[in-house]
Amino acid sequence: MRHYLDHAATTPLLPESREAMLPWLGPEANASSLHSEGRAARAAVDSARQAIAECIGCLFGEIVFTSSGTEAANLALIGSALANSNPGRNRILVGATEHHCVLHCTPLLQRLGYLVDEVPADRESRIVPGALCKLLGDDVLLVSVMQANNETGAVNETRELAAMAASSGALFHSDAVQTFPQRFVFAGDLVSMSSHKTYGPAGVGALYIRAGTKISPVSLGGGQERDMRAGTENVAALVGFAHAANHFRNNDFGSEMRAARDALAAELLLHGFEATVRHGPILPGHFHCRCPGIDSERMLIRLDRAGVSASSGAACSSGSLEPSHVLLACGYTPKEAREGLRFSFGKDATVEAALDAARLVIDVAERIKRGRH
Ligand code: PLP
Repeated sequence: MRHYLDHAATTPLLPESREAMLPWLGPEANASSLHSEGRAARAAVDSARQAIAECIGCLFGEIVFTSSGTEAANLALIGSALANSNPGRNRILVGATEHHCVLHCTPLLQRLGYLVDEVPADRESRIVPGALCKLLGDDVLLVSVMQANNETGAVNETRELAAMAASSGALFHSDAVQTFPQRFVFAGDLVSMSSHKTYGPAGVGALYIRAGTKISPVSLGGGQERDMRAGTENVAALVGFAHAANHFRNNDFGSEMRAARDALAAELLLHGFEATVRHGPILPGHFHCRCPGIDSERMLIRLDRAGVSASSGAACSSGSLEPSHVLLACGYTPKEAREGLRFSFGKDATVEAALDAARLVIDVAERIKRGRH
């Protein structure tokens, strides 16, 4: 039996969402066309937009569809920077543990004339409100802090952070890719979401833009998405996204995921693994740890062979794992930051399977330690 414990990377497409997409995979349906096929596609896109808006409790017109969570976050940061007409607001603050879709905007923002500062994280990867407070000032245009960290699963105080940004007149963007829809926090001016973390298809996301927020489009062309994001809509993907989001809005598998995660974590902690997050709020399906002395690349390759799909959560470049920028921001050494392991459970998690996976993980770690692998 294989154990897929990498739901924070992507979730399988929900069969019912696939069914809902099928009618839209064939027809000649361009949602911008005036003929009846086009109008039918427009109606499908509109009802997907309505469903996402209802999931988070915003207005229909406040949702802009994008090709991914990455594109949504890029639009939030770069679009706000482009639309800003106040030269006195030339600083942007980003959490040090943000996903690369936020952090890698920095060089472009700097080229646009902005000073970009990172808000330091605590030992468990959370952005402490006091740290944001120290950096905030009336020269800050935008603050970007994620709702929950994709590597560690640690949950930030999004409401409090958004309120702090608002009190200094700054816009607030939060990356809700890991929290949407069940653990979504509705706060701030801009919120990014992604479909494939919630059992929808990959390659589709959305940005909530609070009505009245000044933002310039980054993708220019045919005027789709009310001139905010040009490009012919992928109707099938939007239908699948809305279907899956709606399904999980009404079905919370948090207690099953939590029970499985806790069972695996308890076993691993008894066998020399160290948990990264020990206190405070954490996503129910996430367990992030290190096995001191074993780098994650080695561990993940052996785990894969043993039938466990896990992750380090860190980026892989040129075929080798970089030290995790998240763990470095938490104060770990580069060696320790190469030891991160992330096990993330999904809706079908069971304690029995989690215990079986734990046995395999412990066996692999012990073999590596004994030099048998
Ligand atoms: N933000 C976070 C926190 C993520 O975990 C991810 C995906 O791993 C993204 C953004 C990017 O989303 P997408 O894969 O839809 O581009």
